[in-house]
Amino acid sequence: MAELVPIPLPLLLRRAFLEFSREGKIFDLPANKFFRGIPGLDLSVEFHGHRAGTPLGPAAGPHGQLAQNIALSWLGGARIIELKTVQILDELKIPRPCIDAANVGYNVEWSQELKLEQSLREYVKAAMLLEILKASQLAGGTACPTNACSGLPLVGQAVSPANPSDTVFDMSVGYNLEGIRSPRVRSWIASMRNAAPIIDELRAELAGEFQQYRDLPFPTCISDTVSLSTFHGCPAGEIEGIVTFLLVEMGCHVCIKLNPTLLGKEEVVHLLHDVLGYREIELHPPAFENDLQFDEALDLVPRLQRLARRHGRSLSLKFTNTLVVKNHKQVFGDEVMYMSGAPLHVLAMNLVRKFRARMPEPIPISFSGGIDAHNMAAAVAMNFVPVTTCTDLLRPGGYARLSRYLDNLGAEMQRVGASNIAEFVQRYRGQGGDVHTAGLRNTPILVAEATANPRYAWERNKGTPRKIGSKLWLYDCTNCDKCVPVCPNDANFAYETLPVTIEYDNFELMPDGVRRIPGGVLRIVKAHQLANYADACNECGNCDIFCPEDGGPQVEKPRFFGSRETYDADAGANAFYIDWDARTIHGTLECRRYSLAIDPAADRAWFHSADAQVEIRLSDNEVLSWQPATGRLDMLPYLKLKLLMESIGDPRHVHFANVAGLQEKP
Ligand code: SF4
Ligand code: SF4
Repeated sequence: MAELVPIPLPLLLRRAFLEFSREGKIFDLPANKFFRGIPGLDLSVEFHGHRAGTPLGPAAGPHGQLAQNIALSWLGGARIIELKTVQILDELKIPRPCIDAANVGYNVEWSQELKLEQSLREYVKAAMLLEILKASQLAGGTACPTNACSGLPLVGQAVSPANPSDTVFDMSVGYNLEGIRSPRVRSWIASMRNAAPIIDELRAELAGEFQQYRDLPFPTCISDTVSLSTFHGCPAGEIEGIVTFLLVEMGCHVCIKLNPTLLGKEEVVHLLHDVLGYREIELHPPAFENDLQFDEALDLVPRLQRLARRHGRSLSLKFTNTLVVKNHKQVFGDEVMYMSGAPLHVLAMNLVRKFRARMPEPIPISFSGGIDAHNMAAAVAMNFVPVTTCTDLLRPGGYARLSRYLDNLGAEMQRVGASNIAEFVQRYRGQGGDVHTAGLRNTPILVAEATANPRYAWERNKGTPRKIGSKLWLYDCTNCDKCVPVCPNDANFAYETLPVTIEYDNFELMPDGVRRIPGGVLRIVKAHQLANYADACNECGNCDIFCPEDGGPQVEKPRFFGSRETYDADAGANAFYIDWDARTIHGTLECRRYSLAIDPAADRAWFHSADAQVEIRLSDNEVLSWQPATGRLDMLPYLKLKLLMESIGDPRHVHFANVAGLQEKP
């Protein structure tokens, strides 16, 4: 089972800068998909007293997990980054696969897979990475001329003027009071509020070409806002206890993420089955009985709002978490799974309407549930901050889909003559009044429209990605390239090789010489090839869902590891690790281990298998010497390792599998 292995900051930076200068992209996101602000429009919003450049963000999930994911979200225009949920149980074994975004969107992965200490470092690293990207102007024109490098919120800082690069990190924690109050989680939150010691450690890693960024004034407060996930039957009293703890003892602003079960079972059944037609989805009744009830929420929220105010903090609500349903598919092994996407959009919208109609006083609301480029503007018009997305980013295009969210929002703002978000909320349906009142008045209109919109119904969401019936192998495929952007961790990558047909002999090794025996043919048809960087792959299965061929790119394509240690721990049937200093590739093919050291200047290669150690002339693959004296040499693994070493090392393409070996300065 693959474990995620965080990538060191210098390697992330090296890749970002080299890839940008050579290929015009960063972490596989093309520069024309970077958000650079929209001339004449101010898309900024305020979130818990902090200014964010746009109302868009990734929902706590795979897109807020690793530093490169956070950077990709940010490059696409997300400015309120809900970090993946952490919890005290940080050694959970998440079943694989864990994501099925074929149509509706289901998952069984519900919290950070890194250990708490690793998550902390990863989020600090991500914050520093963003500050360096801003300062470098690599993403072009997003740094504020008057306020460069101040994007992250400082506690107690007045809300700064609009700046399209301003970014807020929002912690997400779960799932019960005992865990959240535990010394480890408490210290985790405290360290996110003051990360100075970790920043100093990471600063020291900024050497060589990155030394110039060492003295940037990295904000030490990575986040002072917490979104609380109230999953898994967390009762009202417990929610109140956790929020009180976070507000009063930890001094954080808090957002309570509510569950769609608050709508009540009858209403959910009616919407899901009768209105939308998702009759195959079966509810999980205990969730409705054990989760927070609607009247309890109405009682609890105003009380916690008052408490927050008394402590100079703010409270907000998030609609909604995913919906727990019975597992009616064959993708996961669990009894239940968590539903997102189109049907959740309608459920979450209806829950907001119900809640806003009954809530005695205004409360800020953020939104998650089937958000995409087409409904982002309407969600913003309901005065939701932030509007967060997840399932849509798991589809072909991945993070590149974000730019259309903001383009469409900008177009809608221009259509109604709004220059900022408040004006947009007021003018979207001509409501006038203050922004809060306009958002309230827009709510029933836009919820009714969404509920009646056929794009959320089963008919429009029943299809599955096409499979063509062929099986993937190490080389060649249909080259649709879908597996690269659909990976939230940017673990899949493309590389170039030479199309070749090599007719090779195998050898019988004897004390007095070698004898050629029949070998075979290695045929590589295409120059464009795909591979996987296993240290960033948690085998979530999303790329397999969208790959038209069978087998899964994360299984069949060459899996490269970033260290000998992770390679040894998780080689499985197909794995590679290149030790660039030793010019050696270690490879596991069909569970058999090999290694190949090459010295092009000497025209020599040393190939090791379990049976033999052989010296080979690189230029014509002639066997020169061998040990033991007798045996058999299968040349196919040698040829595969040699080709992979050459093509992965090709400096024209930059990816996680070769960045450590590239010598050039960005
Ligand atoms: S591995 Fe699959 S998804 Fe990736 S490029 Fe090849 S055919 Fe497309
Ligand atoms: S490579 Fe595929 S299986 Fe691995 S993390 Fe990415 S999407 Fe998931």
